[in-house]
Amino acid sequence: MTKPTMTPELAQIRDAITDLCDQFDDDYWLGLDREHKFPHEFRDAMAKAGWLGISLPEEYGGAGLGVTESAYMMQLIASSAGTMAACSSIHINIFGPHAMVKHGTEEQRKRMLPPLIRGEDLTAFGVTEPDAGLNTTQLSTRAVRTGDGYVINGQKVWTSTAQVANKIMLLVRTAAYDPKRPTDGITLFYTDLNRKHIEVREIEKLGRAAVDSNAIFISDLPVPERDRIGQEGQGFRIILDSMNPERILVGAEAVGIGRRALAKATAYAKERIVFGRPIGQNQAIQHPLAESWAELEAANLMVFHAAELYDGGLPCGPEANAAKILAAEAGFTACDRAVRTHGGFGYAKEYHVERYFRESMLPRIAPVSRELVLSHIAERVLGLPKSY
Ligand SMILES: Cc1cc2nc3c(=O)[nH]c(=O)nc-3n(C[C@H](O)[C@H](O)[C@H](O)COP(=O)(O)OP(=O)(O)OC[C@H]3O[C@@H](n4cnc5c(N)ncnc54)[C@H](O)[C@@H]3O)c2cc1C
Repeated sequence: MTKPTMTPELAQIRDAITDLCDQFDDDYWLGLDREHKFPHEFRDAMAKAGWLGISLPEEYGGAGLGVTESAYMMQLIASSAGTMAACSSIHINIFGPHAMVKHGTEEQRKRMLPPLIRGEDLTAFGVTEPDAGLNTTQLSTRAVRTGDGYVINGQKVWTSTAQVANKIMLLVRTAAYDPKRPTDGITLFYTDLNRKHIEVREIEKLGRAAVDSNAIFISDLPVPERDRIGQEGQGFRIILDSMNPERILVGAEAVGIGRRALAKATAYAKERIVFGRPIGQNQAIQHPLAESWAELEAANLMVFHAAELYDGGLPCGPEANAAKILAAEAGFTACDRAVRTHGGFGYAKEYHVERYFRESMLPRIAPVSRELVLSHIAERVLGLPKSY
């Protein structure tokens, strides 16, 4: 059985998203990648068609659908010419605002969600810090209470879309690290990305150049109390809530980019003639591609199994994590094989598979590494001692 099982909602998503993505071809995305330009046209089209609110409540302008539908949409986008760049231009919209849905006040939901859904607000997400790495309890960016709010100082790294965003979700310390309660004392804010107090420096990186990632330097950023999401000191738990959906979405995206690369490789293998026959007639070309098909399908089952559990209100930590790493490896391997199937032309930008290959590295690294996922499964599923 293919996953997800087709429903009327999913069929509608498939038709509409495929039509929309078809308007943005490989040359559009290659041009943006070369010029390091954000895909405003694509993002605006997604917002205009109402897709940015796919998983947000209907009363604020969203569609109120689940992670299954959201993951399916992101997978279709990843399997279009825009691959990870297209996904990253809207990714945070799909899961980030759930923090406000679940932990915000009614005033915050009314103020924050509709402009995000309409695409008028674009938010960055600042969690990672240069000296904390994957150990989020070691964050050192600090919010200090003032009369009517907070002042934030510190530094974040890899903050995607900060060149173009007007808002930022910031996870910072409001109390010193306490080794007895390491996840306490961390607070989440959703506030203006105020460039008078936040300096944004783009990081030159391997791929996905259309969507910037940055080092950001925060000096004396004033934040009103009404921009704090949830209770002071509870930010780590709030972010934990969105981790499983994010891993499921990234897994779906990784399968999508792998499918795109596999389709390109297969088409090329059928038409490229060497030694008087299509290269795809050789088993040495066929088998790696067939193996990628099998790996992508298997990973996809795990992605939508985890999504089904999440939407059913069931625990899905190990499944969401396993889906992310299985899909990331399957997607990357398919892109690698697509480049090699193209031979020398795989290295040329005009065949696009080199761009997919560069972008397919991303789900292997972010939002969490393979090593940390395996450590989590070892501890939580196998009952082995915690190693990190
Ligand atoms: C293009 C891009 C966009 C990103 N966008 C954002 C964003 O918008 N917002 C944001 O907050 N972050 C973002 N990130 C950051 C990303 O989530 C982190 O890079 C990722 O979580 C890994 O953290 P790190 O780079 O600090 O690695 P580190 O924590 O320094 O780890 C380095 C390596 O050591 C391994 N390692 C560390 N500790 C252990 C251990 N105990 N056992 C085994 N192995 C270990 C890791 O698995 C990894 O392989 C982005 C990253 C990239 C590359």
